[in-house]
Amino acid sequence: MELLDVDKLIEEFESMTKDAGNVQRETLKKILEENGCAEYLQNLGLNGRTDPESFKACVPLVTHNDLQPYIQRIVDGSSSPILTGKPITTISLSSGTTQGKPKFVPFNDELMETTLQIYRTSYAFRTREFPIENGKALQLIYSSKQSKTKGGLIAGTATTNVFRNSQFKNTMKAMQSQCCSPDEVIFGPDFHQSLYCHLLCGLIFREEIQFISSTFSHSIVHAFRTFEQVWEELCADIREGVLTSRITFPSVRSAMAKLLKPNPELADLIHKKCLGLNNWYGLIPELFPNVKYIYGIMTGSMEPYLKKLRHYARDLPLISADYGSSEGWIGTNVNPNVPPELATFVVLPDIGYFEFIPLKENIEEAKPVGLTEVKVGEEYEVIITSFAGLYRYRLGDVVKVTGFHNLSPELKFICRRNLMLTINIDKNTEKDLQLAVEAASKLNIEEKLEVLDFSSHVDLSTNPGHYVIFWEISGEVREEVLEECCNCLDRSFVDAGYVSSRKINAIGPLELRVVQRGTFQKILNHYVGLGAALSQFKTPRCVGSTNNEVLQILCNNVVKSYFSTAF
Ligand code: AMP
Repeated sequence: MELLDVDKLIEEFESMTKDAGNVQRETLKKILEENGCAEYLQNLGLNGRTDPESFKACVPLVTHNDLQPYIQRIVDGSSSPILTGKPITTISLSSGTTQGKPKFVPFNDELMETTLQIYRTSYAFRTREFPIENGKALQLIYSSKQSKTKGGLIAGTATTNVFRNSQFKNTMKAMQSQCCSPDEVIFGPDFHQSLYCHLLCGLIFREEIQFISSTFSHSIVHAFRTFEQVWEELCADIREGVLTSRITFPSVRSAMAKLLKPNPELADLIHKKCLGLNNWYGLIPELFPNVKYIYGIMTGSMEPYLKKLRHYARDLPLISADYGSSEGWIGTNVNPNVPPELATFVVLPDIGYFEFIPLKENIEEAKPVGLTEVKVGEEYEVIITSFAGLYRYRLGDVVKVTGFHNLSPELKFICRRNLMLTINIDKNTEKDLQLAVEAASKLNIEEKLEVLDFSSHVDLSTNPGHYVIFWEISGEVREEVLEECCNCLDRSFVDAGYVSSRKINAIGPLELRVVQRGTFQKILNHYVGLGAALSQFKTPRCVGSTNNEVLQILCNNVVKSYFSTAF
């Protein structure tokens, strides 16, 4: 297997971004030529035109809801060209953690190719800064259940569709990033068992592991939190060369049996290292002496896990991975040296056609602008036109343009647009919530307590309505501290609409509800049961009343609740 030519990949990226405007035009042309015969485009009267002006004049901006009837016909097995020229044979289930239920989106070879393209590009920039040797990677990746739709199409999460594609493995090899776990573990039917085996494989190959990764960094933190619980069992398995009876699936057992040999020295070494750690600080470099970095999406709703990740990683670099979605990829991280809080993504002008709705303007009148027309410092909602049948599709993400790389913009992910705590004139985003939780958790530092996970809800059953914040915390905390945390949360929403509403009691006192340990694990299990995969899991940061099941899990597990006295 030939390794990728890093310099060539970077050179290609540089020349493409220098010509971003033309590349965008060409990309749109290609998308429309390949799919011009699709019913959706035929009905819009483009009549073969492929220029951006005609495209914008004929094709409306849409949301997933607008496309749902078309996608449903594909899911049900219609083989006529509906959204794409070539029939769609695979469907991705987007993680749905933001909306409450998974959405179906088309997946095809072109989307696979753009996925590999973005993997290769960011690998090139990463490797230039942090070279790796030809070893292995501890990739904490999981597949969802792959099912067949009524119409016979394969359906799984987008990451599952990618991991199952034979090209994925080849690309990982060419990137010196082969997963240390066998396929049976990645595709195991139970993610708890797969997670245990990933950790075990990591330990068996500990000297060879070059980096640790996952799609979203939640999976890495989740894995090492699990390690804290199961490390002795892992050591016992290594000592005896026999897998714990907890792993029950025969395919997983037999794949692991091929790797596991009695190794008391390794077991002793790991045991000693674990006992020597203070509160698991620096666990990762202790276990894996040759790891060069940790890699995964660490921005957006993953930012709250950075603190714990740094705790495990000590001084290892944390490199934030690319920006994309089940619908299509958008940008790549070409500055791996930058800490994840500051990570930005340069849009690849040939992986889709991109437009941006300016958020400064009144939304009814705001006209989308092209990739090269965005302005530095401004925020936009991203619109994708993809090779997989989405045309002028509102992704619902808010990004800020922080600069340009050649002629292609660098985007900072801000938040999901629809994730808002709002009762009347107040508007708080996922980011505002995250900042409030960060500020309030600082009060806990002396108590040695951690906010393990959090979510929120707007409770309109009280009059006036009020914000509810759910916290899962480690350990016992004094009542006074939690009361102060609750006040601090309330004060930390600095949005003028919120503050003024609170002052006149048009919004009631914020409520902090502490939930039992394990509540967020139950939420994760709930989503996995719906067909989501751990790989793509994002804790829902704001749970609406329509997401009743998750709200019930949260409400049924409340152990204490506090009302703010801050106003
Ligand atoms: P999914 O529904 O699993 O396809 O997830 C896609 C969503 O995850 C995007 O629309 C974003 O909201 C979020 N996301 C993906 N990549 C990033 C990133 N690099 N930083 C922050 N959020 C991201």
